[in-house]
Amino acid sequence: MSSDASQHFMAPTIVWLRKDLRIFDNAALTAAAAKGAPVIPLYILSPDEEGKTASSCASSWWLASSLTSLANDLSGIGAPLVVREGETLSVLREIIHDTGAAAVFWNRHYEPLSIVKERNLKGALAAIGMDVQTFAGNLLYEPWQILSSKCEPYRIFGSFCKALMSLPEPDLPLEAVSRLTPVEHQPTSIPIDELNLAVDERVSKTLPEYWQVGESSARKKLSRFIDERLQGYSTDRDFPACVATSRLSPHLVFGEISARTVFHAVRNAGKNGGSSIVGGANEFLRQLCWREFAYNQLYHYPSIADSPLKSEFESFPWQCDEGMLASWKQGNTGYPLIDAAMRELLTTGWINNRMRMIVASFLVKDLLLSWQEGARWFSERLVDADMANNVLGWQWSAGCGFDCAKYTRIFNPVVQSAKFDPSGDYIRAWVPEVKRLDSKWIHKPWEAPNAVLREANIELGATYPLPLVDHKMARQRALHAFEIMRLAQQATSEKKLQEAGDIGER
Ligand code: FAD
Repeated sequence: MSSDASQHFMAPTIVWLRKDLRIFDNAALTAAAAKGAPVIPLYILSPDEEGKTASSCASSWWLASSLTSLANDLSGIGAPLVVREGETLSVLREIIHDTGAAAVFWNRHYEPLSIVKERNLKGALAAIGMDVQTFAGNLLYEPWQILSSKCEPYRIFGSFCKALMSLPEPDLPLEAVSRLTPVEHQPTSIPIDELNLAVDERVSKTLPEYWQVGESSARKKLSRFIDERLQGYSTDRDFPACVATSRLSPHLVFGEISARTVFHAVRNAGKNGGSSIVGGANEFLRQLCWREFAYNQLYHYPSIADSPLKSEFESFPWQCDEGMLASWKQGNTGYPLIDAAMRELLTTGWINNRMRMIVASFLVKDLLLSWQEGARWFSERLVDADMANNVLGWQWSAGCGFDCAKYTRIFNPVVQSAKFDPSGDYIRAWVPEVKRLDSKWIHKPWEAPNAVLREANIELGATYPLPLVDHKMARQRALHAFEIMRLAQQATSEKKLQEAGDIGER
Protein backbone atom coordinates (compact mmCIF):
# COMPACT_ATOMS: atom_id res chain seq x y z
CA MET A 1 0.00 0.00 0.00
CA SER A 2 1.44 3.46 -0.89
CA SER A 3 1.75 5.96 1.99
CA ASP A 4 -0.94 8.08 0.29
CA ALA A 5 -3.31 5.17 0.14
CA SER A 6 -2.55 4.13 3.72
CA GLN A 7 -3.47 7.62 4.93
CA HIS A 8 -7.00 7.09 3.53
CA PHE A 9 -7.27 3.46 4.52
CA MET A 10 -10.13 2.87 6.90
CA ALA A 11 -9.84 -0.54 8.49
CA PRO A 12 -12.93 -2.62 7.74
CA THR A 13 -15.28 -4.07 10.34
CA ILE A 14 -16.32 -7.70 10.06
CA VAL A 15 -19.93 -8.41 11.04
CA TRP A 16 -20.13 -12.08 11.91
CA LEU A 17 -23.69 -13.21 11.19
CA ARG A 18 -25.32 -16.42 12.36
CA LYS A 19 -29.01 -16.57 13.25
CA ASP A 20 -29.56 -12.87 12.65
CA LEU A 21 -29.94 -12.96 8.89
CA ARG A 22 -31.55 -9.56 8.45
CA ILE A 23 -30.95 -5.91 7.69
CA PHE A 24 -33.68 -4.35 9.83
CA ASP A 25 -33.05 -4.17 13.58
CA ASN A 26 -29.62 -5.74 13.35
CA ALA A 27 -27.61 -4.01 16.08
CA ALA A 28 -24.20 -5.36 15.02
CA LEU A 29 -24.70 -4.38 11.37
CA THR A 30 -26.05 -0.94 12.32
CA ALA A 31 -23.09 -0.25 14.62
CA ALA A 32 -20.61 -1.34 11.95
CA ALA A 33 -22.31 0.84 9.31
CA ALA A 34 -22.26 3.82 11.69
CA LYS A 35 -18.45 3.73 11.82
CA GLY A 36 -18.37 4.78 8.16
CA ALA A 37 -15.59 2.28 7.43
CA PRO A 38 -16.00 -0.64 4.99
CA VAL A 39 -18.06 -3.53 6.29
CA ILE A 40 -17.60 -7.23 5.60
CA PRO A 41 -20.79 -9.19 6.39
CA LEU A 42 -19.58 -12.73 7.02
CA TYR A 43 -21.32 -16.07 7.47
CA ILE A 44 -19.19 -19.06 8.53
CA LEU A 45 -20.61 -22.55 8.39
CA SER A 46 -18.96 -24.47 11.22
CA PRO A 47 -21.27 -27.34 12.21
CA ASP A 48 -18.56 -29.13 14.23
CA GLU A 49 -18.47 -26.18 16.62
CA GLU A 50 -22.22 -25.94 16.99
CA GLY A 51 -23.17 -29.44 18.08
CA LYS A 52 -25.34 -32.08 16.53
CA THR A 53 -28.54 -30.04 16.24
CA ALA A 54 -26.86 -27.92 13.58
CA SER A 55 -27.12 -30.74 11.04
CA SER A 56 -30.90 -30.64 10.92
CA CYS A 57 -32.02 -31.36 7.41
CA ALA A 58 -35.17 -29.23 7.13
CA SER A 59 -33.56 -26.26 8.80
CA SER A 60 -30.43 -26.69 6.67
CA TRP A 61 -32.67 -26.17 3.65
CA TRP A 62 -34.02 -23.04 5.33
CA LEU A 63 -30.52 -21.80 6.10
CA ALA A 64 -29.37 -22.13 2.50
CA SER A 65 -32.44 -20.28 1.23
CA SER A 66 -32.14 -17.61 3.90
CA LEU A 67 -28.47 -16.96 3.12
CA THR A 68 -29.37 -16.57 -0.56
CA SER A 69 -32.01 -14.02 0.31
CA LEU A 70 -29.69 -12.12 2.67
CA ALA A 71 -26.89 -12.13 0.10
CA ASN A 72 -29.24 -10.39 -2.38
CA ASP A 73 -30.32 -7.82 0.20
CA LEU A 74 -26.73 -7.07 1.25
CA SER A 75 -25.56 -6.70 -2.36
CA GLY A 76 -28.40 -4.24 -2.83
CA ILE A 77 -26.99 -2.00 -0.07
CA GLY A 78 -23.41 -2.23 -1.18
CA ALA A 79 -21.58 -4.98 0.72
CA PRO A 80 -21.80 -8.54 -0.61
CA LEU A 81 -22.12 -11.36 1.90
CA VAL A 82 -18.94 -13.42 2.34
CA VAL A 83 -19.69 -17.09 2.97
CA ARG A 84 -17.05 -19.46 4.29
CA GLU A 85 -16.86 -22.90 5.83
CA GLY A 86 -14.47 -24.04 8.58
CA GLU A 87 -13.21 -23.26 12.03
CA THR A 88 -14.54 -19.82 12.99
CA LEU A 89 -11.36 -18.37 14.49
CA SER A 90 -9.17 -19.53 11.58
CA VAL A 91 -11.57 -18.04 9.04
CA LEU A 92 -11.76 -14.76 10.94
CA ARG A 93 -7.95 -14.60 11.22
CA GLU A 94 -7.58 -15.22 7.49
CA ILE A 95 -10.03 -12.46 6.58
CA ILE A 96 -8.44 -10.06 9.08
CA HIS A 97 -5.05 -10.79 7.51
CA ASP A 98 -6.32 -10.38 3.92
CA THR A 99 -8.36 -7.22 4.44
CA GLY A 100 -6.69 -5.40 7.34
CA ALA A 101 -9.96 -5.52 9.33
CA ALA A 102 -9.60 -4.01 12.80
CA ALA A 103 -12.95 -4.84 14.35
CA VAL A 104 -15.31 -7.80 14.65
CA PHE A 105 -18.94 -7.23 15.69
CA TRP A 106 -21.68 -9.75 16.32
CA ASN A 107 -25.10 -10.21 17.95
CA ARG A 108 -25.05 -12.51 20.97
CA HIS A 109 -26.50 -16.05 20.98
CA TYR A 110 -27.37 -18.16 24.00
CA GLU A 111 -27.06 -21.86 23.18
CA PRO A 112 -24.48 -23.39 25.55
CA LEU A 113 -21.92 -24.04 22.80
CA SER A 114 -22.40 -20.56 21.32
CA ILE A 115 -21.69 -18.96 24.70
CA VAL A 116 -18.41 -20.84 25.07
CA LYS A 117 -17.46 -20.17 21.46
CA GLU A 118 -18.16 -16.44 21.77
CA ARG A 119 -16.14 -16.21 24.99
CA ASN A 120 -13.14 -17.96 23.42
CA LEU A 121 -13.33 -15.86 20.25
CA LYS A 122 -13.52 -12.64 22.23
CA GLY A 123 -10.33 -13.54 24.09
CA ALA A 124 -8.46 -14.69 20.99
CA LEU A 125 -9.47 -11.67 18.88
CA ALA A 126 -8.76 -9.15 21.61
CA ALA A 127 -5.32 -10.74 22.01
CA ILE A 128 -4.49 -9.82 18.40
CA GLY A 129 -5.68 -6.24 18.93
CA MET A 130 -9.17 -6.48 17.45
CA ASP A 131 -11.97 -4.19 18.57
CA VAL A 132 -14.58 -6.82 19.51
CA GLN A 133 -18.13 -5.64 20.20
CA THR A 134 -21.18 -7.79 20.86
CA PHE A 135 -24.84 -6.72 20.82
CA ALA A 136 -28.27 -7.80 21.99
CA GLY A 137 -30.42 -8.79 19.09
CA ASN A 138 -32.18 -12.11 19.40
CA LEU A 139 -34.47 -11.74 22.38
CA LEU A 140 -36.70 -9.07 23.88
CA TYR A 141 -34.48 -8.94 26.96
CA GLU A 142 -31.12 -10.49 27.73
CA PRO A 143 -31.47 -13.69 29.81
CA TRP A 144 -29.76 -12.09 32.80
CA GLN A 145 -32.22 -9.18 32.83
CA ILE A 146 -35.18 -11.23 34.05
CA LEU A 147 -34.47 -12.64 37.50
CA SER A 148 -36.61 -13.07 40.59
CA SER A 149 -36.34 -10.74 43.61
CA LYS A 150 -33.79 -13.24 44.99
CA CYS A 151 -31.74 -12.76 41.81
CA GLU A 152 -32.52 -16.30 40.73
CA PRO A 153 -33.85 -17.49 37.39
CA TYR A 154 -37.59 -18.03 37.29
CA ARG A 155 -38.78 -21.64 37.21
CA ILE A 156 -42.48 -20.95 36.78
CA PHE A 157 -43.66 -19.55 33.47
CA GLY A 158 -46.52 -17.48 34.95
CA SER A 159 -44.18 -15.55 37.28
CA PHE A 160 -41.60 -15.14 34.51
CA CYS A 161 -44.19 -13.77 32.10
CA LYS A 162 -45.55 -11.37 34.73
CA ALA A 163 -42.04 -10.11 35.47
CA LEU A 164 -41.29 -9.67 31.75
CA MET A 165 -44.51 -7.76 31.11
CA SER A 166 -43.84 -5.43 34.04
CA LEU A 167 -40.47 -4.32 32.63
CA PRO A 168 -40.23 -1.17 30.49
CA GLU A 169 -41.11 -2.21 26.92
CA PRO A 170 -38.23 -3.65 24.89
CA ASP A 171 -36.27 -1.11 22.83
CA LEU A 172 -37.89 -0.10 19.57
CA PRO A 173 -36.47 -1.93 16.55
CA LEU A 174 -33.68 -0.19 14.63
CA GLU A 175 -34.23 1.06 11.10
CA ALA A 176 -32.85 -1.03 8.25
CA VAL A 177 -29.24 -0.42 7.31
CA SER A 178 -29.54 1.43 4.00
CA ARG A 179 -25.94 1.63 2.80
CA LEU A 180 -22.72 -0.21 3.54
CA THR A 181 -19.26 0.66 2.26
CA PRO A 182 -17.68 -2.36 0.58
CA VAL A 183 -14.04 -3.38 1.08
CA GLU A 184 -11.71 -2.62 -1.76
CA HIS A 185 -10.56 -6.23 -2.20
CA GLN A 186 -13.54 -8.46 -1.61
CA PRO A 187 -12.56 -11.71 0.23
CA THR A 188 -13.35 -14.92 -1.61
CA SER A 189 -16.70 -16.52 -0.85
CA ILE A 190 -18.13 -20.01 -1.31
CA PRO A 191 -21.27 -20.20 -3.48
CA ILE A 192 -24.18 -20.99 -1.14
CA ASP A 193 -25.26 -24.02 -3.14
CA GLU A 194 -21.79 -25.51 -2.63
CA LEU A 195 -21.97 -25.32 1.18
CA ASN A 196 -21.74 -28.64 2.94
CA LEU A 197 -25.33 -28.64 4.22
CA ALA A 198 -27.03 -31.99 4.76
CA VAL A 199 -30.24 -31.26 2.85
CA ASP A 200 -32.34 -34.32 2.13
CA GLU A 201 -33.56 -34.34 -1.49
CA ARG A 202 -37.17 -35.05 -0.46
CA VAL A 203 -37.08 -32.04 1.80
CA SER A 204 -35.71 -29.69 -0.84
CA LYS A 205 -38.51 -30.80 -3.16
CA THR A 206 -41.48 -30.31 -0.82
CA LEU A 207 -40.50 -27.40 1.44
CA PRO A 208 -40.41 -24.70 -1.27
CA GLU A 209 -44.12 -25.35 -1.86
CA TYR A 210 -44.92 -24.30 1.70
CA TRP A 211 -42.44 -21.58 2.61
CA GLN A 212 -41.11 -18.30 1.33
CA VAL A 213 -37.84 -17.73 3.07
CA GLY A 214 -36.09 -14.45 3.83
CA GLU A 215 -36.49 -11.13 5.59
CA SER A 216 -38.97 -9.50 3.23
CA SER A 217 -41.24 -12.59 3.38
CA ALA A 218 -41.04 -12.53 7.17
CA ARG A 219 -42.06 -8.88 7.31
CA LYS A 220 -44.96 -9.40 4.90
CA LYS A 221 -46.07 -12.45 6.86
CA LEU A 222 -46.14 -10.45 10.10
CA SER A 223 -48.33 -7.73 8.51
CA ARG A 224 -50.74 -10.27 7.02
CA PHE A 225 -50.98 -12.11 10.31
CA ILE A 226 -51.88 -8.89 12.13
CA ASP A 227 -54.42 -7.86 9.48
CA GLU A 228 -56.07 -11.24 8.95
CA ARG A 229 -55.55 -13.56 11.91
CA LEU A 230 -54.64 -11.70 15.10
CA GLN A 231 -58.31 -11.14 15.88
CA GLY A 232 -59.09 -14.87 15.93
CA TYR A 233 -55.72 -15.98 17.32
CA SER A 234 -56.82 -16.86 20.86
CA THR A 235 -59.79 -18.94 19.74
CA ASP A 236 -58.34 -20.63 16.62
CA ARG A 237 -54.67 -21.23 17.40
CA ASP A 238 -55.12 -24.83 18.58
CA PHE A 239 -57.06 -26.02 15.54
CA PRO A 240 -54.73 -27.60 12.99
CA ALA A 241 -57.15 -27.33 10.07
CA CYS A 242 -57.10 -23.49 10.39
CA VAL A 243 -54.20 -21.33 9.37
CA ALA A 244 -54.54 -19.40 12.62
CA THR A 245 -51.06 -18.70 13.99
CA SER A 246 -48.33 -16.48 12.56
CA ARG A 247 -46.01 -19.26 11.28
CA LEU A 248 -43.19 -16.86 11.99
CA SER A 249 -41.23 -19.46 13.97
CA PRO A 250 -38.59 -20.36 11.32
CA HIS A 251 -38.14 -16.66 10.48
CA LEU A 252 -37.56 -15.95 14.18
CA VAL A 253 -35.19 -18.90 14.52
CA PHE A 254 -32.98 -17.62 11.70
CA GLY A 255 -33.35 -14.04 12.83
CA GLU A 256 -34.92 -12.91 9.56
CA ILE A 257 -37.16 -10.83 11.76
CA SER A 258 -36.37 -9.75 15.30
CA ALA A 259 -38.49 -10.60 18.32
CA ARG A 260 -38.60 -6.85 19.09
CA THR A 261 -40.07 -6.09 15.67
CA VAL A 262 -42.76 -8.74 16.17
CA PHE A 263 -43.45 -7.61 19.74
CA HIS A 264 -43.94 -3.93 18.88
CA ALA A 265 -46.03 -4.59 15.76
CA VAL A 266 -48.44 -6.83 17.70
CA ARG A 267 -48.43 -4.61 20.79
CA ASN A 268 -49.35 -1.57 18.63
CA ALA A 269 -52.09 -3.50 16.82
CA GLY A 270 -53.46 -4.48 20.23
CA LYS A 271 -53.33 -0.90 21.51
CA ASN A 272 -55.16 0.44 18.48
CA GLY A 273 -57.67 -2.36 17.92
CA GLY A 274 -61.01 -3.49 19.34
CA SER A 275 -61.45 -5.95 22.19
CA SER A 276 -60.95 -9.14 20.11
CA ILE A 277 -57.70 -7.74 18.71
CA VAL A 278 -56.58 -6.89 22.26
CA GLY A 279 -57.34 -10.48 23.31
CA GLY A 280 -55.48 -11.90 20.31
CA ALA A 281 -52.52 -9.59 20.86
CA ASN A 282 -52.23 -10.45 24.56
CA GLU A 283 -52.37 -14.17 23.85
CA PHE A 284 -49.79 -13.84 21.08
CA LEU A 285 -47.40 -11.83 23.29
CA ARG A 286 -47.78 -14.53 25.93
CA GLN A 287 -46.58 -17.10 23.39
CA LEU A 288 -43.64 -14.88 22.51
CA CYS A 289 -42.94 -14.87 26.25
CA TRP A 290 -42.63 -18.68 26.12
CA ARG A 291 -39.78 -18.16 23.66
CA GLU A 292 -38.07 -15.79 26.13
CA PHE A 293 -38.68 -18.28 28.95
CA ALA A 294 -37.14 -21.09 26.90
CA TYR A 295 -33.98 -19.06 26.27
CA ASN A 296 -33.90 -17.96 29.88
CA GLN A 297 -34.02 -21.58 31.04
CA LEU A 298 -31.41 -22.74 28.53
CA TYR A 299 -29.09 -19.90 29.52
CA HIS A 300 -29.36 -20.58 33.26
CA TYR A 301 -29.59 -24.39 33.05
CA PRO A 302 -27.52 -25.32 29.98
CA SER A 303 -27.73 -29.04 30.81
CA ILE A 304 -31.41 -29.07 29.78
CA ALA A 305 -30.26 -29.41 26.19
CA ASP A 306 -30.13 -33.16 26.76
CA SER A 307 -30.84 -33.90 30.43
CA PRO A 308 -34.15 -33.68 32.29
CA LEU A 309 -34.48 -30.66 34.56
CA LYS A 310 -36.04 -32.92 37.20
CA SER A 311 -33.24 -35.32 38.00
CA GLU A 312 -35.54 -38.23 39.03
CA PHE A 313 -36.37 -38.64 35.33
CA GLU A 314 -32.78 -39.78 34.74
CA SER A 315 -33.88 -43.19 35.98
CA PHE A 316 -37.22 -43.33 34.14
CA PRO A 317 -37.57 -46.73 32.44
CA TRP A 318 -37.86 -45.51 28.84
CA GLN A 319 -38.42 -48.31 26.34
CA CYS A 320 -36.21 -48.87 23.35
CA ASP A 321 -38.30 -50.01 20.39
CA GLU A 322 -37.04 -49.01 16.96
CA GLY A 323 -40.18 -50.29 15.25
CA MET A 324 -42.51 -48.16 17.37
CA LEU A 325 -40.25 -45.14 16.99
CA ALA A 326 -40.27 -45.55 13.20
CA SER A 327 -44.08 -45.83 13.14
CA TRP A 328 -44.36 -42.61 15.14
CA LYS A 329 -41.86 -40.80 12.92
CA GLN A 330 -43.53 -41.83 9.69
CA GLY A 331 -47.12 -41.29 10.88
CA ASN A 332 -48.21 -44.94 10.96
CA THR A 333 -49.43 -45.31 14.54
CA GLY A 334 -53.05 -46.13 13.70
CA TYR A 335 -54.22 -42.99 15.55
CA PRO A 336 -55.36 -40.71 12.71
CA LEU A 337 -54.65 -37.38 14.45
CA ILE A 338 -51.14 -38.44 15.46
CA ASP A 339 -50.48 -39.73 11.95
CA ALA A 340 -51.83 -36.56 10.32
CA ALA A 341 -49.51 -34.40 12.43
CA MET A 342 -46.43 -36.56 11.88
CA ARG A 343 -47.04 -36.61 8.13
CA GLU A 344 -47.61 -32.86 8.02
CA LEU A 345 -44.29 -32.48 9.84
CA LEU A 346 -42.51 -34.73 7.30
CA THR A 347 -43.92 -32.84 4.33
CA THR A 348 -43.98 -29.21 5.49
CA GLY A 349 -41.41 -29.10 8.32
CA TRP A 350 -43.96 -27.53 10.68
CA ILE A 351 -46.98 -28.38 12.87
CA ASN A 352 -48.88 -26.16 15.28
CA ASN A 353 -48.16 -26.05 18.99
CA ARG A 354 -51.18 -28.16 19.97
CA MET A 355 -50.15 -30.92 17.54
CA ARG A 356 -46.57 -30.78 18.88
CA MET A 357 -47.89 -31.31 22.41
CA ILE A 358 -50.18 -34.18 21.38
CA VAL A 359 -47.59 -36.14 19.37
CA ALA A 360 -45.00 -35.55 22.10
CA SER A 361 -47.35 -36.85 24.79
CA PHE A 362 -48.11 -39.89 22.63
CA LEU A 363 -44.41 -40.70 22.18
CA VAL A 364 -43.40 -40.37 25.81
CA LYS A 365 -46.54 -41.56 27.58
CA ASP A 366 -48.34 -43.95 25.24
CA LEU A 367 -45.20 -45.48 23.72
CA LEU A 368 -42.87 -44.84 26.68
CA LEU A 369 -40.12 -43.76 24.28
CA SER A 370 -37.73 -41.11 25.53
CA TRP A 371 -38.33 -37.41 24.98
CA GLN A 372 -34.75 -37.08 23.74
CA GLU A 373 -35.63 -39.33 20.76
CA GLY A 374 -38.59 -37.09 20.01
CA ALA A 375 -36.53 -33.93 20.37
CA ARG A 376 -33.91 -35.33 17.96
CA TRP A 377 -36.55 -36.13 15.34
CA PHE A 378 -38.11 -32.70 15.68
CA SER A 379 -34.74 -31.00 15.35
CA GLU A 380 -34.12 -32.95 12.16
CA ARG A 381 -37.52 -32.33 10.61
CA LEU A 382 -38.70 -28.91 11.79
CA VAL A 383 -37.88 -25.89 9.66
CA ASP A 384 -37.99 -23.96 12.94
CA ALA A 385 -35.74 -26.40 14.84
CA ASP A 386 -34.49 -24.40 17.79
CA MET A 387 -32.63 -25.81 20.76
CA ALA A 388 -34.26 -23.65 23.45
CA ASN A 389 -37.87 -23.96 22.28
CA ASN A 390 -37.53 -27.61 21.34
CA VAL A 391 -36.09 -28.84 24.65
CA LEU A 392 -38.52 -26.70 26.62
CA GLY A 393 -41.43 -28.15 24.59
CA TRP A 394 -40.24 -31.72 25.06
CA GLN A 395 -39.40 -31.40 28.74
CA TRP A 396 -42.79 -29.76 29.29
CA SER A 397 -44.56 -32.59 27.45
CA ALA A 398 -42.60 -35.33 29.21
CA GLY A 399 -43.23 -33.80 32.61
CA CYS A 400 -39.55 -33.40 33.46
CA GLY A 401 -39.19 -29.62 33.12
CA PHE A 402 -39.59 -27.25 36.07
CA ASP A 403 -42.91 -25.79 34.95
CA CYS A 404 -44.56 -28.44 32.88
CA ALA A 405 -47.55 -30.67 32.29
CA LYS A 406 -47.82 -33.06 35.26
CA TYR A 407 -46.61 -36.49 34.23
CA THR A 408 -50.02 -37.79 35.21
CA ARG A 409 -51.67 -35.51 32.63
CA ILE A 410 -51.79 -37.83 29.64
CA PHE A 411 -53.44 -36.63 26.43
CA ASN A 412 -56.05 -39.01 25.08
CA PRO A 413 -55.39 -38.94 21.31
CA VAL A 414 -59.03 -39.66 20.46
CA VAL A 415 -60.44 -36.99 22.75
CA GLN A 416 -57.90 -34.44 21.49
CA SER A 417 -58.76 -35.40 17.93
CA ALA A 418 -62.50 -34.88 18.41
CA LYS A 419 -61.86 -31.61 20.23
CA PHE A 420 -59.35 -29.95 17.91
CA ASP A 421 -60.28 -31.49 14.55
CA PRO A 422 -64.01 -32.01 15.10
CA SER A 423 -64.93 -32.30 11.42
CA GLY A 424 -61.89 -34.50 10.67
CA ASP A 425 -60.79 -32.17 7.85
CA TYR A 426 -57.20 -32.02 9.06
CA ILE A 427 -57.00 -35.79 9.24
CA ARG A 428 -58.50 -36.10 5.75
CA ALA A 429 -55.86 -33.72 4.37
CA TRP A 430 -52.95 -35.84 5.64
CA VAL A 431 -54.27 -39.39 6.05
CA PRO A 432 -56.06 -40.17 2.80
CA GLU A 433 -56.50 -43.83 3.79
CA VAL A 434 -59.30 -42.83 6.19
CA LYS A 435 -60.70 -39.82 4.36
CA ARG A 436 -64.01 -41.53 3.57
CA LEU A 437 -64.89 -41.96 7.24
CA ASP A 438 -67.31 -39.43 8.68
CA SER A 439 -66.57 -37.36 11.75
CA LYS A 440 -68.07 -40.00 14.04
CA TRP A 441 -65.46 -42.67 13.15
CA ILE A 442 -62.51 -40.79 11.69
CA HIS A 443 -60.92 -40.25 15.13
CA LYS A 444 -61.08 -43.98 16.03
CA PRO A 445 -61.45 -46.17 12.92
CA TRP A 446 -60.85 -49.37 14.95
CA GLU A 447 -64.22 -48.87 16.63
CA ALA A 448 -66.11 -48.43 13.36
CA PRO A 449 -68.48 -51.26 12.38
CA ASN A 450 -67.16 -53.53 9.63
CA ALA A 451 -69.79 -52.27 7.18
CA VAL A 452 -68.61 -48.67 7.70
CA LEU A 453 -65.00 -49.68 7.15
CA ARG A 454 -65.90 -51.67 4.01
CA GLU A 455 -67.86 -48.71 2.66
CA ALA A 456 -64.82 -46.45 3.27
CA ASN A 457 -62.45 -48.96 1.59
CA ILE A 458 -60.51 -49.53 4.77
CA GLU A 459 -59.03 -52.83 5.85
CA LEU A 460 -57.43 -52.22 9.22
CA GLY A 461 -53.97 -53.72 9.45
CA ALA A 462 -53.71 -53.68 5.63
CA THR A 463 -54.74 -50.31 4.16
CA TYR A 464 -54.34 -48.43 7.46
CA PRO A 465 -52.60 -49.63 10.66
CA LEU A 466 -54.38 -50.91 13.73
CA PRO A 467 -53.51 -48.75 16.79
CA LEU A 468 -49.93 -49.32 17.86
CA VAL A 469 -51.05 -49.44 21.51
CA ASP A 470 -54.34 -49.41 23.33
CA HIS A 471 -54.47 -45.95 24.93
CA LYS A 472 -56.24 -47.12 28.10
CA MET A 473 -53.62 -49.81 28.73
CA ALA A 474 -50.76 -47.45 27.78
CA ARG A 475 -52.05 -44.82 30.19
CA GLN A 476 -52.06 -47.29 33.09
CA ARG A 477 -48.58 -48.51 32.12
CA ALA A 478 -47.23 -44.95 32.05
CA LEU A 479 -48.78 -44.09 35.42
CA HIS A 480 -47.30 -47.25 36.91
CA ALA A 481 -43.81 -46.46 35.55
CA PHE A 482 -44.14 -42.93 36.91
CA GLU A 483 -45.19 -44.20 40.33
CA ILE A 484 -42.18 -46.54 40.50
CA MET A 485 -39.89 -43.65 39.61
CA ARG A 486 -41.54 -41.47 42.26
CA LEU A 487 -41.18 -44.11 44.97
CA ALA A 488 -37.52 -44.70 44.05
CA GLN A 489 -36.91 -40.97 44.31
CA GLN A 490 -38.68 -40.83 47.68
CA ALA A 491 -36.60 -43.75 48.99
CA THR A 492 -33.37 -42.06 47.84
CA SER A 493 -34.34 -38.77 49.53
CA GLU A 494 -35.24 -40.57 52.77
CA LYS A 495 -31.93 -42.44 52.69
CA LYS A 496 -30.06 -39.17 52.18
CA LEU A 497 -31.93 -37.56 55.09
CA GLN A 498 -31.16 -40.55 57.29
CA GLU A 499 -27.47 -40.44 56.38
CA ALA A 500 -27.37 -36.70 57.10
CA GLY A 501 -29.03 -37.39 60.50
CA ASP A 502 -26.51 -40.16 61.28
CA ILE A 503 -23.64 -37.79 60.54
CA GLY A 504 -25.27 -35.11 62.73
CA GLU A 505 -25.54 -37.52 65.67
CA ARG A 506 -21.91 -38.60 65.47
P1 FAD B 1 -47.33 -18.46 17.01
O1 FAD B 1 -48.46 -19.04 17.79
O2 FAD B 1 -47.67 -17.52 15.94
O3 FAD B 1 -46.36 -17.77 18.08
C1 FAD B 1 -45.43 -16.73 17.74
C2 FAD B 1 -44.03 -17.09 18.17
O4 FAD B 1 -43.97 -17.28 19.58
C3 FAD B 1 -43.53 -18.40 17.58
O5 FAD B 1 -43.04 -18.21 16.27
C4 FAD B 1 -42.46 -18.82 18.58
O6 FAD B 1 -41.24 -18.14 18.37
C5 FAD B 1 -43.05 -18.34 19.89
N1 FAD B 1 -43.78 -19.44 20.53
C6 FAD B 1 -45.08 -19.78 20.36
N2 FAD B 1 -45.40 -20.83 21.15
C7 FAD B 1 -44.28 -21.16 21.81
C8 FAD B 1 -43.96 -22.17 22.78
N3 FAD B 1 -44.88 -23.02 23.24
N4 FAD B 1 -42.69 -22.26 23.25
C9 FAD B 1 -41.74 -21.38 22.83
N5 FAD B 1 -41.99 -20.40 21.92
C10 FAD B 1 -43.23 -20.29 21.42
N6 FAD B 1 -40.77 -23.74 18.61
C11 FAD B 1 -39.71 -23.43 17.83
O7 FAD B 1 -39.58 -22.28 17.39
N7 FAD B 1 -38.76 -24.38 17.54
C12 FAD B 1 -38.85 -25.67 18.00
O8 FAD B 1 -37.95 -26.47 17.74
C13 FAD B 1 -39.98 -26.01 18.79
N8 FAD B 1 -40.14 -27.28 19.23
C14 FAD B 1 -41.25 -27.60 20.01
C15 FAD B 1 -41.39 -28.91 20.50
C16 FAD B 1 -42.48 -29.25 21.28
C17 FAD B 1 -42.63 -30.67 21.78
C18 FAD B 1 -43.45 -28.27 21.60
C19 FAD B 1 -44.65 -28.63 22.44
C20 FAD B 1 -43.32 -26.97 21.14
C21 FAD B 1 -42.22 -26.61 20.35
N9 FAD B 1 -42.05 -25.29 19.85
C22 FAD B 1 -40.95 -24.99 19.09
C23 FAD B 1 -42.94 -24.20 20.29
C24 FAD B 1 -44.15 -23.89 19.39
O9 FAD B 1 -44.86 -25.06 19.11
C25 FAD B 1 -43.77 -23.20 18.08
O10 FAD B 1 -42.95 -22.09 18.34
C26 FAD B 1 -45.01 -22.68 17.34
O11 FAD B 1 -45.89 -23.74 17.08
C27 FAD B 1 -44.56 -22.02 16.04
O12 FAD B 1 -45.66 -21.64 15.25
P2 FAD B 1 -46.02 -20.11 15.02
O13 FAD B 1 -44.83 -19.33 14.63
O14 FAD B 1 -47.19 -20.08 14.12
O15 FAD B 1 -46.46 -19.68 16.48
